[in-house]
Amino acid sequence: MTSATPQFREVAGRPGLAPDQAVRGPVPLNRYFDDLGYMHAALPGLTTGSVAAYLVQFGYVSGPDNVEGLWGGTDALAGLLFRAGNVAIAFVNASDILARRRFTAAHELGHAVLHRESMGATLLDATIEEADGVLGPMEAEANRFAAELLMPEVVLRARADELRAAHGCCPRVVLGYRLASELRVSREAIGYRLKNLGVGDGE
Ligand SMILES: [Zn+2]
Repeated sequence: MTSATPQFREVAGRPGLAPDQAVRGPVPLNRYFDDLGYMHAALPGLTTGSVAAYLVQFGYVSGPDNVEGLWGGTDALAGLLFRAGNVAIAFVNASDILARRRFTAAHELGHAVLHRESMGATLLDATIEEADGVLGPMEAEANRFAAELLMPEVVLRARADELRAAHGCCPRVVLGYRLASELRVSREAIGYRLKNLGVGDGE
């Protein structure tokens, strides 16, 4: 994990959270949430209003007046992080496919770890790009955290070595296809990550 950010290394350094290339399958995202004491919730058709209703219904805020103008809102969201004291809840859209929900949850977890002190009670993500686009620094940091968490470098390099040993070559597109399936991430996200790390053969 030589290229990982210090913030992610600190999280991955907690007992039982280090990426392990000997384990096949998706990174156990729930374990990270549990260990850090954060929660996540998936709401169908995630909107500002559905988040506000959830927060009021389950008593995280005392009433509609205390949800920062979200109450009754209809703005569609890709994700949202709510924070109050020691409580942090990552909201994802239950209507999204699994790979998308996982990326969003990891992205919001990144905000919780990295931006707890600088954010307000809510941090709204209208859209989340899985590759670097025109993003502000906080969005880029949360995306980087999500990529490091969901697509561990040690796993990527180990699978690349296996593919090369078996076939004598390691086309990035083939490696990406296999890893997207194993890690439950999108082809776009893994393709970008592999290219970024220079793992696999391809332009
Ligand atoms: Zn974000």
